[in-house]
Amino acid sequence: MTEQELCDLYYTQRKTMKEIGHIYGLTKERIRQKMEEYHLKRRSCGPTKGKLRFKNLEGYLAHIRGGGRESAASLRRYIKRYAPESLTHCSKCGGDPPLFVTLAKNPATCLGDIKFLCMSCWGKPRIKVSEKEQAEICEKYREGITGVELAKKYGVCDATLYKYLYQGGVKVKKRCKRLAIE
Ligand SMILES: [Zn+2]
Repeated sequence: MTEQELCDLYYTQRKTMKEIGHIYGLTKERIRQKMEEYHLKRRSCGPTKGKLRFKNLEGYLAHIRGGGRESAASLRRYIKRYAPESLTHCSKCGGDPPLFVTLAKNPATCLGDIKFLCMSCWGKPRIKVSEKEQAEICEKYREGITGVELAKKYGVCDATLYKYLYQGGVKVKKRCKRLAIE
C-alpha cells in the first residue's frame, strides 16, 4: 500500500481505518501504524455518517435553534452520549433509570425541552400514593395480597410498588415463585 493509495482511501473516499484494513486484509491497528509511518494526520470526528457532528448537546440544540434539521433519532443519540447530570434522573419524580426521553417541544431547542421520565412517570399521569397508602400497601402485602393485585388497586406500576415494599422494609417474595407453583 503506497502513501498515495492510503491518502486516497482515507481522505478522498473517507473510508475508516477499519474499512481500509479490510481491503488489504490488515488490521485496523496495522493501518494506524502505516498512517504514522507516512505521517498522515488522522481526521477528527467530522460530519461522517454514523458519527456525531456536534461535540455536545448544547451544540446540537444551537444548530436546531439556527434552523437546522435533524431527526428525532439523532437527538436521542446526542442525549444518550452527552446527557448532562440533570438528565440522569426522572424529570418529574427524580426516579432512577431506565429513563425515557420525551420532548416538551418538538424539535427541542433547549435543554428544558427535553424531559427524562422514569418508567412509572412515562406515558401516564403520575399517580400520587400517600405515605399512609404506602404503609397500607406494605400491610396488605404482608397479609398475602399479591403485588399484581396491589399495583392494580393503587394504580402504580410494578417497579413503583416494589419500591414501596422495599422502603417499607417488607421482605419481598420471589416474583417468579408464584408462577412456578401455578
Ligand atoms: Zn418518575
